[in-house]
Amino acid sequence: MLDEKNTKREVFDETEDWKDITEEETGIPENDEEWEEDEEVWNPELLIRCDSLVKIYKSEDVEVMALQGLDLEIKKGELMAVIGKSGSGKSTLMNMIGGLERPSAGKLYIDGKDLFSLTDSEMVEYRNRTVGFVWQKSSRNLVPYMTAIENIEVPMYFTGKTPGEMREKAMELLEKVGMLHKKDSYPGQMSGGEQQRVAIAVALANEPVILLADEPTGAVDSKTSNKIQDLFRTLNKELGITIIIVTHDVSLANKVGRVVMISDGKISTEKIMKEEYQRALNLLDGESVNANESHEEYSVLDKARRIQLNEEILAAAGIDSNKVKVQVVDDKVVITKE
Ligand code: ADP
Ligand code: MG
Repeated sequence: MLDEKNTKREVFDETEDWKDITEEETGIPENDEEWEEDEEVWNPELLIRCDSLVKIYKSEDVEVMALQGLDLEIKKGELMAVIGKSGSGKSTLMNMIGGLERPSAGKLYIDGKDLFSLTDSEMVEYRNRTVGFVWQKSSRNLVPYMTAIENIEVPMYFTGKTPGEMREKAMELLEKVGMLHKKDSYPGQMSGGEQQRVAIAVALANEPVILLADEPTGAVDSKTSNKIQDLFRTLNKELGITIIIVTHDVSLANKVGRVVMISDGKISTEKIMKEEYQRALNLLDGESVNANESHEEYSVLDKARRIQLNEEILAAAGIDSNKVKVQVVDDKVVITKE
């Protein structure tokens, strides 16, 4: 894989007297490090920045635009949820952050680096070391003919750890997810919730910076789901790991600091947990809170300062055409039927 930069550099290498061409003349920095840096200064609190991400899937003669210029920033150590209707682009976004899917347009920065400018080997390293995935289907997370402990050792195979070190780390993780008692069980001998706990341990095996969970509680009952949510919160608190959970489960979404809603491939609204509830939740440790009270909901302006109005809002305001009047009244923006 050659990215644009490398291609350009190669052309230069072939030019006999390329060294005599100054930076000023070419506009290309001579210093290698400058190549890698992005022009903008990276906010050190940020971990992930999605910049107008677009993903178009082409199948036969239909094109689906799964992401339509999605902007999103995620801070280091955040625990957040992504919600949205089926087909809204949630999994596409997760796969992109996980380095499994390339955008059709737009940029994705991880800790200041353009993810899709990584070389193939750097990308392999990124997928193995920087991100951990938990999928909805247990069969995608766990190898059926391996025990819990063996499953957790798999991601560590190519890290240079000795078998003893791998075992020690696997035991530590089993304890962390509360599954030490099932260390020698096969996935088929565990409940759905237990399998997901082990899957979380597998995802954590190489101490990733980002844990991505795509509908991790989609296939378990609500009580189990609650316990898994608490595990995510504990891991986030204890390990400081950034966790992004895609979910349909409203009660799970209510327990995290920030909930972003995707509609039609863009972030439409964000709910931010009020500080007093953040504190209350830590005290309650596991009790559910009512999202209407616990979170403040905001609409998100995109880069072109557009907002999305959902059907309920339009219906409540009696807006039934594609034209509205926008006015500022008493320092408020008022949108009314034309
Ligand atoms: P969600 O996870 O929110 O349900 P997805 O990100 O899986 O949504 O999908 C968003 C849209 O992209 C859907 O319309 C889906 O059908 C389409 N899509 C997803 N993956 C593919 C693919 N590999 N090929 C073609 N279309 C796809
Ligand atoms: Mg999905």
